[in-house]
Amino acid sequence: MSKNRKEVTLLKNDDFLSANKFTGGENKDLSAWLNKANKKELADLLGYYCREATGEEKAELAQLARELGAKHYGSKIFFRGLIEFSSYCRNDCFYCGLRRSNSKAKRYRLTPAEILECCQKGYEMGFRTFVLQSGEDAYYTDDRLCGLISKIKELFPDCAVTLSIGERSYDSYKSLFEAGADRYLLRHETANEYHYSQLHPPELSLKNRLKCLYNLKEIGFQVGAGFMVDSPDQTFETLAEDFIFLRELQPHMIGIGPFIPHHETRFANYYQPTSSRTLVLLSLLRIMLPKTLLPATTALGTVDPLGRQKGLQAGANVLMLNLTPLKHRSDYSLYDNKLCTGWGAAENLTELAQHLKSLGFTPDFSRGDYIDFQEGE
Ligand code: SAM
Repeated sequence: MSKNRKEVTLLKNDDFLSANKFTGGENKDLSAWLNKANKKELADLLGYYCREATGEEKAELAQLARELGAKHYGSKIFFRGLIEFSSYCRNDCFYCGLRRSNSKAKRYRLTPAEILECCQKGYEMGFRTFVLQSGEDAYYTDDRLCGLISKIKELFPDCAVTLSIGERSYDSYKSLFEAGADRYLLRHETANEYHYSQLHPPELSLKNRLKCLYNLKEIGFQVGAGFMVDSPDQTFETLAEDFIFLRELQPHMIGIGPFIPHHETRFANYYQPTSSRTLVLLSLLRIMLPKTLLPATTALGTVDPLGRQKGLQAGANVLMLNLTPLKHRSDYSLYDNKLCTGWGAAENLTELAQHLKSLGFTPDFSRGDYIDFQEGE
């Protein structure tokens, strides 16, 4: 740790915005500093805020994050209806309950007609973005997906479709985009090769994951990357690499949430995480990339009953609520005890929106695109 507590606690109010004390007097604000700091500097700052900072310092960081986000999005919170449409997966990611070698996982697959029913239900509730997420399921070929996407766009032309269905070829992504998909979520998981290899089998490579993200961006999707917080073998150095990668990619969305062990994986006995590190990282990501759409994730709400609310207060501005048919909801089991009620359930949208207002947020029922995004671009 190269900076002592005294230097950092001096970063208050105007001084706080001037990260000079952290950066040797070179930079005028923390946002600019985060956008050019090197790996060592970032790792030091992340380490400080994750391990040593006081509650007051974290609250200041969160306030700065909210102020910077509000410049672009005001106090709006955007909603997404999440449809987890298949729990089949051809991959074997070491951390994930859906991995193919988990023979105990309950597998289900919604038909296109069932997915359309979920959209209909979600549309009536007020959602204008549908996030279609699944394991990498070979049943869902380009033809089937393109047919489904164009049907959703035909029935709900004022809605955005977000896909989160893993790694595919450039041509596949292009056909999904041409069928009408607007956005794509593909967490990079970690930007460090060694760390990636500790979380994934050898047939999956960081190189391909990153290539997919750049392809998606080139094709014209609004793109989301992201990572799990506190995943096995994560260090402040690997997190610094995540920050450097994200500022290079300039994604439209960033999804981060605590790593939570699943009992049928090799990490079953890994410690149970808390929300605190994710909250700090949400604030720092918001400060580094103020225009990013940043969800307060389900995993955050799983490790802490107030996690999603705290996430919004730390700088997040998106809530994805689960629209998957109730009978399958608990079978999409990425990790243990996944939240699918309360702050996780689409059925509670109206109640949640009221609650958000009481916290000073403005629930927003538009598509909620990235601020610089023009439809038809
Ligand atoms: N198959 C698609 C993909 O690979 O992007 C989408 C589904 S995948 C299960 C969605 C995300 O869940 C992953 O990117 C990962 O970050 C997260 N996830 C999986 N297992 C997790 C765990 N044990 N704890 C927290 N998040 C987890």
